[in-house]
Amino acid sequence: MLTDYIIPHTQIAAIIEEAGGDLQIRKDHPVKSPEELAPGECLVKLDCSGACHSDLHAAIGDWPVPPRLPLIGGHEGVGIVVAIGKNTVESPVKLGDRVGIKWIANSCLNCEQCRKGREQNCVKALCSGYTVDGTFQEYVVSYVNYVTPIPEGLPSDAAASILCAGVTVYRALKNSQTSLGDWIVIPGAGGGLGHLAVQYARIRGLRVIAIDTGSEKKNLCLKLGAEKWIDFMENKDIVKEVREVTDGLGAHSALVTASSSQGYEQAIEYLRPGGILMCNGLPGSATLSASIFFTVFKSITICGSYVGNRQDAIEAIDIAARGLVKVHFVNRPLADLKDVYNGMINGTIVGRVVLDMSKK
Ligand code: NAD
Ligand code: ZN
Repeated sequence: MLTDYIIPHTQIAAIIEEAGGDLQIRKDHPVKSPEELAPGECLVKLDCSGACHSDLHAAIGDWPVPPRLPLIGGHEGVGIVVAIGKNTVESPVKLGDRVGIKWIANSCLNCEQCRKGREQNCVKALCSGYTVDGTFQEYVVSYVNYVTPIPEGLPSDAAASILCAGVTVYRALKNSQTSLGDWIVIPGAGGGLGHLAVQYARIRGLRVIAIDTGSEKKNLCLKLGAEKWIDFMENKDIVKEVREVTDGLGAHSALVTASSSQGYEQAIEYLRPGGILMCNGLPGSATLSASIFFTVFKSITICGSYVGNRQDAIEAIDIAARGLVKVHFVNRPLADLKDVYNGMINGTIVGRVVLDMSKK
C-alpha cells in the first residue's frame, strides 16, 4: 500500500529563491503525491525540525559549493512515514513509523566510501536542505534505507537535533583518540553542536574546557559538566588559560564546533604533544593556519569530521533515548525561521531552536 493517510496537496514551507535572498514562508507549496514517489522514496509528515547553523550557511550561500536553488533548507527533522513509493522492495520502515531525517538524505551504499562507512563522502550522497529539499516544510520526501528510526519514548523535538548536531559531535569524539580522563577543549560549547559535544565528551570520561561567550552559555556548559569555562570575548589569552588548567601541559584534544575561523585559532598552541584537533565548525572561506614546525614537533593530528553515517546516527540517538544526553532547546513555529537565523548571526541562541510544525 502506498499510503492509508490523507495527504494534502499543499503545505507550509520556508523557501529561499537565491543565496542571501529573502526567506519566504509559503502556505501553498505543493506536496509530492504518493503516486509520484520513486521506488525507495518515502514521504514523511514532520513533527518538527531543528535549525542548524549549516542551514544559515546554505541560506547565505557562504560555502564554496553552492546549494541547489530554490531551496527548502533543514536537516534535523522528525516525523511519521505517511507514504512509501510503489515497487519499493524490502523497506526497513513501514507506514506509521517515526523516523529522523539527517543531513545526508541518501547515498549509493555501494561505492568504496559507503562500503568503508563514510557514506557522507559518497559522490552520489544527497544532502537534505542543500542538494535536495529539506525539513523546513510539513512533508518531506526521504529514502527508506536512509531514515533513522526514532525509539519510542524519545519525544520528536528532543530527538531532532541529535540527527545533525548530535551525530556530528558523537562521530568526531568517537574518532578523537581520547582516553578516560583526557582534557578536551570545545570552542563553540554553548551552541547547537557544542552543548551536545560537552555531554558526549563527559560520558566518554573526558574533562571539558568549554569556550564560548555570555553568561547563559556559561551556565549551560557548567551545568552540563564542563570543568572550566573560558569566555572568548573577555579572555584574550586562551592558550595561557588552557595551559594553566591542564598543569602547564596543554589539552589532549580540541573539538572545534564554532562557526567562525577564530574558534580554530590557537588550537595547535594549546594542545599538548600527541594532541588531536577535530574540526567540525564550517566557516565558508577561512583557511586553517597552523605552524608546520610545531604541528610536526608536537606530533599533532589535524582531522576533519563531517556529520556521520547511519550507524553513528543510531548510536547517537540511542544514547539520547537512554537520557544520557539531552538537547537544550526551545520550540518555535516555522514562521520564525528568519528570526532564528538572526539569533545565530548575533550568537544569542543557547543550545538549539526546534521548529514545531504544529505551531502556526
Ligand atoms: P551555533 O551557532 O549553534 O553555535 C556556534 C557557537 O560558536 C555559538 O555559541 C557561538 O557563540 C560560538 N562561537 C563563535 N565564535 C567563537 C569563538 N571564536 N570561540 C568559541 N566559540 C565561538 O552553530 P552550530 O549549529 O552548532 O554549528 C556550528 C558550526 O558547525 C557551523 O559552521 C555549522 O555549519 C558546522 N556544522 C558542521 C558539521 C559537520 O559535519 N562537520 C555538522 C553540522 C554543523
Ligand atoms: Zn546541521
